[in-house]
Amino acid sequence: MPTLSLLRALLFPAIALTSVWWLAPLTGLWTEDYQTLISVLPYLLGTLLLVLAQVFNQGRLGQMALLVMATYALIQFELQASLEHSERWWVFFWLTLLWPLNAVVVRFLPERRPLSLAGMMFPLALALQLLLIYGLTLTSLYPAVLQWSESFRAAGVGGLLPLPAWLSFSIAVALCANRLPRKADIPLAFITVIVLHAGMFYLFASQQVSALTASTSLLLLFATLLVSNHQLAFIDELTGLPGRRALMNDLKHRHGRYILVMADIDHFKKFNDTHGHDVGDDVLRLVAAQLEKTSGGGRAYRYGGEEFTLLFPSAELVETRPFIEATRERIASYQLTLRDTNQRPASSKDGKKQRGQKSKARTLNVTMSFGAARRESGESIEALMKRADNALYKAKQNGRNRVEDAV
Ligand code: GH3
Ligand code: MG
Ligand code: MG
Repeated sequence: MPTLSLLRALLFPAIALTSVWWLAPLTGLWTEDYQTLISVLPYLLGTLLLVLAQVFNQGRLGQMALLVMATYALIQFELQASLEHSERWWVFFWLTLLWPLNAVVVRFLPERRPLSLAGMMFPLALALQLLLIYGLTLTSLYPAVLQWSESFRAAGVGGLLPLPAWLSFSIAVALCANRLPRKADIPLAFITVIVLHAGMFYLFASQQVSALTASTSLLLLFATLLVSNHQLAFIDELTGLPGRRALMNDLKHRHGRYILVMADIDHFKKFNDTHGHDVGDDVLRLVAAQLEKTSGGGRAYRYGGEEFTLLFPSAELVETRPFIEATRERIASYQLTLRDTNQRPASSKDGKKQRGQKSKARTLNVTMSFGAARRESGESIEALMKRADNALYKAKQNGRNRVEDAV
């Protein structure tokens, strides 16, 4: 789902950029002005991204934008002529070798705003690497190391990417793809940017390839920043469901008839008191996962605490009833296995002993009550929710683990 929304967010800028790119020469737009615009675009996008990363606390996206922009600048100033020349090959060789490693550093860097003491360490490290590469040319080691780097000129597979850079890029992609978190938008964007740059170095002799790569990468990072910020605002962290703000936003855009269902876990307080808050959180995740599977077009939200909302596009309560009942039954029949945290072994030796035995896992059942209301035309969101809440109250009164319709 996050990947999907990222792709959707990316689709428009990607199509726009590529079509402008390829169509412009055909339409005679490929003038000097146009080329100038293309060549400054990475700086504009990069600066915009740095500012946004600073404002929205998205340190790693900012650092990646900085890396892309600095690379582009280095290419513009140092690598515009043929790589046949030893001095340029020297820069190209080290750039392709070190670039992926810097990208990996950004991937695993803690979140720090670009304009902070910790955030400034990354540009400093980049500058230091440049100094070292140029400094090395002044030492007596230079001829030998240069000769070594030149030995990879022909060793690239096809394009210009030297063999050590292939290795370095492969390691970078493997490290970034390793243990992707559940919300993987940022790591996935980083992997794409790394692969794009591998492609750029491979096709380095092509016209405008660096501007195209930098702009596409920065647009991708920009889309990722938007998606990631949107998620911060609308997605509930614990359950991964859209939260109350998302519900209110969706309701504002819905007119006409629809069905709103308020759902509440039965005796959840007792659950928390008996088994602890952590188990309570597990129950919330489980319930959310089951609610999300609701069919019939039902969309699940976490309204707050142990209360959830289902929204159906349908116009009749009788139509949605079977779908709500199916979800209620699925939750009630789910056996939640408890990891007994109180019986954690004190030492790893005891742990080994315990693991050999049959674990004393306990299973629990959880039930939910539902109150469904059909929105009447012109009815306010507050009035509709109040009626769904009353229906939910009725379901609790009538014994819980049931669905009641609003009057
Ligand atoms: P009823 O069947 O009448 O709904 O009883 P109940 O105990 O579920 O109702 P009540 O509203 O009294 O209790 C809700 C409890 O939910 C209180 C609070 O401790 C717990 N709770 C709310 N949010 C969270 C959360 O995010 N995590 C955990 N673990 N517990 C939560
Ligand atoms: Mg409640
Ligand atoms: Mg409850």
